[in-house]
Amino acid sequence: MTAAPGVPAYRQAPGEPPSLVGSRCRGCGWISFPARPVCGGCGAEPTDEVPVGRSGRIRSSAVVHHAPIGFEPPYIVALVELEEGPIVFCPITGCPPEEGAAAPGTAVVLTVAPARPGGTPVFQFRPAHA
Ligand SMILES: [Zn+2]
Repeated sequence: MTAAPGVPAYRQAPGEPPSLVGSRCRGCGWISFPARPVCGGCGAEPTDEVPVGRSGRIRSSAVVHHAPIGFEPPYIVALVELEEGPIVFCPITGCPPEEGAAAPGTAVVLTVAPARPGGTPVFQFRPAHA
């Protein structure tokens, strides 16, 4: 997933946990992910880049059994509500790809890894207890 043109979806400094690149409105404080140059809440600009999404909670999830070419089913995808409010759609890792393994309300933390063998690293979430 990419954010605004030229803005990466995540950042990770050596020795630091990864974070997603969001934006906060200077006018109303609305937080967005991906980062946006104009506030989606009040329409004001500019916004400031802020780190978001180090943790969140699963809103809903599904086990994918019929995957696109290059992906190995089964795996889990989910809607994750970030602690700052935005909701993202992404893979879930670190738990068995079974119904109920990523139940609504499960606390998750951000991780960055390839979502398929040999793939480019992307942001994903894993259960916080894993
Ligand atoms: Zn605003």
